[in-house]
Amino acid sequence: NHGVGSWTARRARRTPHRLAVIHDGVRITYAELHDRTARLAHHLRHLGVRPGDRVAFLGPNHPSFLETFFAAGQLGAVFVPLNTRLAEPELRFCLADSGASVLVHTPDFEHFARSCTVPRPVAVGSGLDKDLAACTPVSPDVPVTHADTAIIMYTSGTTGRPKGAVLSHGNLIWNSLNTLVDGEFADGDVTLLSAPLFHTAALNMTCLPTLLKGGTLVLEETFSPARTLDLVERLLVTVMFGVPTMFQQISAQPRFADADLSSLRILLCGGAPVPQALIRTYQQRGLGFIQGYGMTETSPGVCLLDAEHALDKPGSAGLPHFFSDIRIVGHDGDASRGELLVEGPNVMSGYWNLPEETAAAFDDGWFRSGDVAHVDEDGYVTIVDRTKDMIISGGENIYPAEIENVLYEHPAVGDCAVIGVRDEKWGEVPRAVVVLAPGAVASAEDILASLDGRLARYKIPKSLVFTDALPRSGAGKLLKPHIRDNFGTPS
Ligand code: AMP
Ligand code: MG
Repeated sequence: NHGVGSWTARRARRTPHRLAVIHDGVRITYAELHDRTARLAHHLRHLGVRPGDRVAFLGPNHPSFLETFFAAGQLGAVFVPLNTRLAEPELRFCLADSGASVLVHTPDFEHFARSCTVPRPVAVGSGLDKDLAACTPVSPDVPVTHADTAIIMYTSGTTGRPKGAVLSHGNLIWNSLNTLVDGEFADGDVTLLSAPLFHTAALNMTCLPTLLKGGTLVLEETFSPARTLDLVERLLVTVMFGVPTMFQQISAQPRFADADLSSLRILLCGGAPVPQALIRTYQQRGLGFIQGYGMTETSPGVCLLDAEHALDKPGSAGLPHFFSDIRIVGHDGDASRGELLVEGPNVMSGYWNLPEETAAAFDDGWFRSGDVAHVDEDGYVTIVDRTKDMIISGGENIYPAEIENVLYEHPAVGDCAVIGVRDEKWGEVPRAVVVLAPGAVASAEDILASLDGRLARYKIPKSLVFTDALPRSGAGKLLKPHIRDNFGTPS
């Protein structure tokens, strides 16, 4: 087995007694992690999971997330992590689309898992532990190559439906190598992770490089800025991953100024550039940010900005990773600004069961990011715009098309558009702009309430404004820049 599933065995041979995971007071060594994952692989096999079958996981950051990921890898099965913030219809879509045969879940999702007819639910807990005790602790002997699929990660898109990015073992391994070459992970790191593992940056960019190096992962189920400071002091955390909103909340803690942060070496931040003021705030505490730019489809690392250049290349996403190539497709012969295309061993093979979307996403083998970038004379990349319609809210990406599709189903909604408006806490939040259907009467509250339970809470617009008509192009496409200009100011 040459895939990521083999890492637990390789690590257990080299550093069996080191701690792999700390979670809620439970400490798991590499030897224990391997023992548990190998048993789980056998258990899943007893349940009928074969190479290539999909094994979904639904739950917060928890050791069982990683155990299921590695067990699937040992079986040559495909891991499908689900976003716990999704509404039930959205979760059902991902399960049906992936064709998962098994759904491993934590107790919080018992009710949902029981309501699913197709994937067989496997509840994490004492019942499963009993089953595992009866299984052998040696990984099943299944050949896995770098080309085999390791994971399908759902990412929303401009078409309004989540798409599964198909990532191979090779994709994940090369991304880890990129991170290790360009980032500053070291032997024996203690990495604190309270961002959700079902997102690519947390799993592929933070957790996997840490475990590859034999570090210790501190898993938090929810993010608490106060507890973060306690954990850093108590566990001597060296690496911390987060999105800008989280770092903002940590530095807003009264205790931030005199907390003992001397163990910290790396603040890893991804998803959006870190504001300059925040960089300075942390600099006063002797701490720098390493900032990543990437996408689910590229496993995710494309560019990295080291701490040294955070202030003299303000807003930049940094240099392309060692094993990743970029190209800018400019307009009018301008090669320094245009859509950013990516090629490299970290780029996905395509979207699950979507040959047309896959073909449209690539240009002659280069993945089209949908981001507009500028490259300066030193090769530093700055994301200046997006060709795709997307809102980034507290590290979650929101595709307006998804919300618009659900809004249209309200009988009073004649036409609608969703845009992002600036927000102090979340960076951006969605706002709906609605044209009522002829003769219809409905309040903003009525319309927004109709989205409850159908969309993840973070996607539900924080405000709704009415208008008489929305500008559309000749082809009927919403003119978003125009709508943003007219309705995009915070209220
Ligand atoms: P996702 O596939 O959900 O990980 O989202 C990827 C998208 O997030 C990218 O295509 C960018 O639009 C945006 N993004 C990620 N990292 C950054 C960054 N450092 N700066 C600006 N935008 C980013
Ligand atoms: Mg995406």
